[in-house]
Amino acid sequence: MPSDNPHKREARPEFWQLSMRCCQLAACVDVAFLFIFLGLGSPILGWVNVISVAMYVYAYRAFKQRRNRLAVMLIRIEVLVHAGLGTLMVGWESGFHYYLLMFIPALFVSMRARSAWILAICLWAYYVGLDVLMWYLPPLQPISSNALLAVHVFNLTVVFCMFSYLALFYVVTVTRAHKKLARMATTDPLTGLFNRRHLISLAEKVQQPAEMTLMLMDIDHFKAINDAYGHDMGDQVLKAVSRVLKDSMREQDFIGRWGGEEFLALLPHTDLDQAAASAERIREAVQALRIDGNGSHIGVTLSIGISQHHAGQSLSHSIARADAALYEGKSAGRNRVERAPS
Ligand code: GH3
Ligand code: MG
Ligand code: MG
Repeated sequence: MPSDNPHKREARPEFWQLSMRCCQLAACVDVAFLFIFLGLGSPILGWVNVISVAMYVYAYRAFKQRRNRLAVMLIRIEVLVHAGLGTLMVGWESGFHYYLLMFIPALFVSMRARSAWILAICLWAYYVGLDVLMWYLPPLQPISSNALLAVHVFNLTVVFCMFSYLALFYVVTVTRAHKKLARMATTDPLTGLFNRRHLISLAEKVQQPAEMTLMLMDIDHFKAINDAYGHDMGDQVLKAVSRVLKDSMREQDFIGRWGGEEFLALLPHTDLDQAAASAERIREAVQALRIDGNGSHIGVTLSIGISQHHAGQSLSHSIARADAALYEGKSAGRNRVERAPS
């Protein structure tokens, strides 16, 4: 069922894990078949499953050794031959052909659409060919009608369960991928804070009902830290400051990385006095921070500009006012909180 494209293992590790799980399940099903057919008095049909179990065990081992091509080939041969042989020997009503249908979603998930379509058409030809053949050919190893019904129900149940399992797997995988993409699209990879684009969209949503305060923060003399300790250490400082900022925010606030060493916080339902008190606490917390690096304890300070933003105002204008206040703080000696005039 899985693809033989060696790159897919890296691209979709979950898919290969699923393939290995399928090997285990299929081997268990074939062990069950061994006993079912021995119980029904058809030893040949029973012992055939020993070969199938051996093939799945071998395919499983091949997956573990990352020999995906071999594993995939073994699974394909097993399913095609087993389904065909079971149908020829016991008849179409046995339901062995249902296993062929399980290939269809796996083909489209695991390979390029063109190859999947080609193989799907080949599969269709094989399936329909088998069906037509069984219209004219009596089963080679017929079993009693009760036994046939039992085999049919068993096969139907297994295929039903496997399809449900596959559907669940696909849904879980897609949901996970969707969440991962959403996280990547909204967060800054270094600091884990919201990124600039997401902050803007949050600000546009938040500003509708009420006023809020914008807090623009910039690490003082950050370039000097990079120059003195290296860029990696600079990154560690950015992460440490980000953690302090995140911990300082209230539940309703939003904090993100606005640019290199600049951060923007949105404080909904907060007036300028409350925001100034909060900014002062943040400034002190960052000032108290020590980051260990290259045998020294690096300290940093933060300059903060705050501006009040009312619903209906231009967001970029309010940010520009916070930026002007921040610039004033820088000019006045840094490590300060400055308010933009209302
Ligand atoms: P000021 O007090 O005026 O803000 O001075 P500054 O040195 O902090 O500001 P400046 O704009 O001169 O330098 C900012 C530096 O931040 C320059 C840039 O290389 C660095 N920087 C930007 N993004 C990153 C990053 O992701 N990692 C690291 N390590 N450095 C960064
Ligand atoms: Mg800056
Ligand atoms: Mg700076």
